[in-house]
Amino acid sequence: MGNDESSPVDESVAPRTLPGRTVEALAEHIKSGQVKKICVMTGAGISTSAGIPDFRSPDTGLYANLARLNLPYAEAVFDINFFRRSPEPFYELAHELYPGKFRPTITHSFIRLLNDKGLLLKHFTQNIDCLDREAGVPDDKIVEAHGSFARQSCIDCSMPYPEEYIKLHIEEKTIPRCELCKGLVKPEIVFFGEQLPASFFQNRMLPYESDLVIVMGTSLTVQPFASLPGMVREETPRLLINKERVGGFGSQADDVLLIGDCDEGVRKLAKACGWLKELEALWAKTAPRDAPTDAEAEKEAPPKDKDEVLEDEIDKLTKEVDETLNLSKWHEEKVRGGSSSAPKSVASSQHEDEKGNLNHVFVSNEASKKEGAASTTPVVAEKDQTAKSEGGKKD
Ligand SMILES: [Zn+2]
Repeated sequence: MGNDESSPVDESVAPRTLPGRTVEALAEHIKSGQVKKICVMTGAGISTSAGIPDFRSPDTGLYANLARLNLPYAEAVFDINFFRRSPEPFYELAHELYPGKFRPTITHSFIRLLNDKGLLLKHFTQNIDCLDREAGVPDDKIVEAHGSFARQSCIDCSMPYPEEYIKLHIEEKTIPRCELCKGLVKPEIVFFGEQLPASFFQNRMLPYESDLVIVMGTSLTVQPFASLPGMVREETPRLLINKERVGGFGSQADDVLLIGDCDEGVRKLAKACGWLKELEALWAKTAPRDAPTDAEAEKEAPPKDKDEVLEDEIDKLTKEVDETLNLSKWHEEKVRGGSSSAPKSVASSQHEDEKGNLNHVFVSNEASKKEGAASTTPVVAEKDQTAKSEGGKKD
């Protein structure tokens, strides 16, 4: 299925929209100002250079690591029925995959660049790694077709679960439970046997409105995602950047193929558009910041005299009292009947220090508040029969 059997368009057929079927011709078209609404569709291939294992594929070492957890079969880790009985393996895996450990690729930054230029209509992704968010693509431009780590909720009552809590649970490999009904909490990653998020179905017709489609790093084998690039008008140019020809690409008059690595591909396109410097600069900003945290800076500061120490102590106490007041207020509202499942040290800065920058792990802080419970809305008529049934394949 991954390999394409559709025949490429005959060379003698002239493109309808583009001046030619090359990257340069596409760039010329983009620069002419006729492109204003780009739909980007991506899969695991845009994140492999970030070091993220293709966790859906049983061939990766990731599943070998899980073997010691006595999984009945590799993909059980993403099976909702298995999760209900035995959530530990998933949390073991989440510990490995949790955002913050990986740097976005230049391909993610390219999507951000499209958005900065006002050209991005929507980014549809099959990835759950949130690297587009970390690269600065805003929440309202992202459709995570298979969910992601950006939000988490109770699998029984759907109540959203605080991000600070789940971070600690995942860090400590403990199992979070719902504040309300004590049900299991999980990140809103789509498991086998679960519906795709409502946002996917709400936005799936957007490609029809777009004036350019860019597909990157996906074998386009998993439905219904694989159908997206086909939802375009006939005259809409489509660009494929991928290791192989997939999804019928090359069979339409305005299809442009860049066969190869995604990062190289976006560099080529950016260069042809005259954006390469801008793109590299944008990507450079995603490099891990080595600046010392406040706590570290304090450690390195020269020794203080008695008065200064006393003053600091008072400051610290005042701050702690403030924090405690805020926290208990928050707790009163959130937690009724006391919660044994909440980690003891919500405000624990020790964890954040150990991990470096847990604070910038998720750009989605704001986002999670905004979008609410989109994926808890039941989706009628669309069954997720296909989305995960091919779990062994590339995406
Ligand atoms: Zn619940």
